[in-house]
Amino acid sequence: MNMTKTVISSFVFCTTLALFADPFGAPPDAVHAWGVHDDYRPGVKKITADGVKPPSDAIVLFDGTSESIQNNWCDHKGNPTRWKLNEKGELVSVRGAGSIFTKRKFSDCQLHVEWAAPENIIGVGQGRGNSGVFLMGEYEIQVLDSYETDPSKTPNPNPNYSDGQAGAAYGQNPPAVNPCRAPGVFNTYDIIFHAPRYNSDGTIRLPANITVLFNGVLVQDNWKFDGPTGFRHRAFYRRIQANNSVTEIVPKSPLSFQDHGNPVKFRNVWIREISNPEENVTHGSYYAKPEEVLKLRAKTAAELDASFEKNWGKEKLGRKLLEAWRVASYEATPARLERVKKLEEEFISSSKGITAGEMWPKFGIGKWELRNYYYDLVVAGATEQNNPTIKAIDSIK
Ligand code: MG
Repeated sequence: MNMTKTVISSFVFCTTLALFADPFGAPPDAVHAWGVHDDYRPGVKKITADGVKPPSDAIVLFDGTSESIQNNWCDHKGNPTRWKLNEKGELVSVRGAGSIFTKRKFSDCQLHVEWAAPENIIGVGQGRGNSGVFLMGEYEIQVLDSYETDPSKTPNPNPNYSDGQAGAAYGQNPPAVNPCRAPGVFNTYDIIFHAPRYNSDGTIRLPANITVLFNGVLVQDNWKFDGPTGFRHRAFYRRIQANNSVTEIVPKSPLSFQDHGNPVKFRNVWIREISNPEENVTHGSYYAKPEEVLKLRAKTAAELDASFEKNWGKEKLGRKLLEAWRVASYEATPARLERVKKLEEEFISSSKGITAGEMWPKFGIGKWELRNYYYDLVVAGATEQNNPTIKAIDSIK
């Protein structure tokens, strides 16, 4: 954050605070760079998502036009695909044309795909309406006409192996349920995929994982792949070869749809690149890195320090005290703790004999808001239960 931005955001913050005076919660700690409800935590990018069009930040891969095919898709050699655009603006798999690949490469993503099995029903099981959504070329969510597959019926009208029906992590995990629609009717897949992460010696650190909503129904719930999906063989992460050399680990790969010889149709394909969960190192996630948290806390404290007097010098004492604590709780240097102590002493002497009702007008904060904040400071180990300020707050009736 540069200084101009800091000043602007501090100004906006002050304005908001003056209007709403919303006290913040527990302070930062070893794995949280931000306090609870922290106004200084970076804001969230605004997008539009009307539920009809793709979200405004999505990469539209296929929108029913030949341009979107030419721009975004190719065959396995990078040549134009032989998959066909039909008169309804649907992309149709062509037997023998091979799988279709995105020109762009992806890893962690949210993917929306709509697909329909051929209306003209031919074959059974794996031979009926087979295609597939391949993430990074290695992890297949099966696309298959599974409409009639129903083990509760005798005989099952379209028997199949469960780890290969529509919505399966192919060869690994069956879909939780089978919400497949009739041939010719479009199904939706909403997929959240995280790429695998490897250690430098080629061993797997985080397996690839996937969540799939099939026609809005959860069928894969954060499924961790055993390795790339495949036919008949147990999967494993084959990055270490027999001679102990490590095969190349590619961070991104094209998305592809399978040509399995059946004219499966696709429409409305969009993707959003999402972050690697391991990158979330300052918000207190499982992957939080204390050294990164400390660095960000120190940076935030320095930025707030630079504008402290300008923004808070004329504020009421309670607000100023809270803000001084906040800066110190990002990084407690002796100078910042000294500033807190001076403001606490001022508060103790000027709050003598006042009533709870006089707190807001005089200090810009209520008795319980201030008391609750001190409670959080004590819990966080930032101050002691016997801090005289707490006694002063408690003595206000
Ligand atoms: Mg398939």
